Amino acid sequence: MRYIQLRQIKAGLPLRWEQVVQNARNKIAEKMKNARTKARQQGKSLRQTHELVIEARKIAINSRSRIWRMLNKQLAKVSFEKCWYCQSNDIRSPKPVDHFRPKSGVKDDPEHPGYWWLAFSWENFRYACTYCNSAHDNERKGGGKQDHFPILNPTKRQCRPGQLLEEKPLLLDPCQLGDSKLITYDVKRARVIANETICNLPQHSPKGIERAETSIDIYDFNHEPLRRKRETMFDALNQLIIDINEYLLDGFDMNVDRIRRKQEELIDRVRFDSLQYDYNEAAYCYLKAQVDKNPWLETILEEAR
Ligand SMILES: [Zn+2]
Repeated sequence: MRYIQLRQIKAGLPLRWEQVVQNARNKIAEKMKNARTKARQQGKSLRQTHELVIEARKIAINSRSRIWRMLNKQLAKVSFEKCWYCQSNDIRSPKPVDHFRPKSGVKDDPEHPGYWWLAFSWENFRYACTYCNSAHDNERKGGGKQDHFPILNPTKRQCRPGQLLEEKPLLLDPCQLGDSKLITYDVKRARVIANETICNLPQHSPKGIERAETSIDIYDFNHEPLRRKRETMFDALNQLIIDINEYLLDGFDMNVDRIRRKQEELIDRVRFDSLQYDYNEAAYCYLKAQVDKNPWLETILEEAR
């Protein structure tokens, strides 16, 4: 995970975006009004009427997915096609638009109608691979974010449009400055783990560890195929280091072409804007862990950031 600046999305919104969203909201209000009128004509109870209206809203929102899909390319562009949560750019595609605050219901609070008023709010969109976003089987039979949105203070959960500032999300948000730093990598096992040093800083404690661990679980960052993919990448990085060290032992200068090419690959694997390589944060952490034994890596890391 890496910090994503939402203002980059705002700068690239389609010209008619506001109008499209307003039209959709008007249509949805009309559908709800029709559902209410129909329920009353049928003599439904107040509770039944309410439920039918909520259902009409849900159907009307979900039938307009083309609206958030309009921004898919824009969202992909700011992360160089990589999932904002796990940084995959291929094996976990296609990448739908995730609503960070779920639009149609909250698994952690079954009574909650979902953050329906944020269904067309670009600030609530996240570019996410299918595995981070959707249900899939894993060890606990339910990997993926789906409609999960646990918060630290459930009594402050918002049910209608208004201030969200009081809600304290448990899930790490790539669009929240600092959140991505709460996780790091166990480079020996290629697993994502809580970054205890950062989690225990005053601005994140006492819930930093809980936020990191909940996110690792819900986004399923250690899903075995993904973990293996990282492991393979770490092996490739390790081989590049071995190759460069052998050339150096043979007396080659750092600037000869054969070493330069391998250095360039290391840089490319770490750079967030690399179009060829994904998992760049994991690559950075892996190389950082090798600096003590290979001091020349420090320059690589500095150049890559
Ligand atoms: Zn992902």
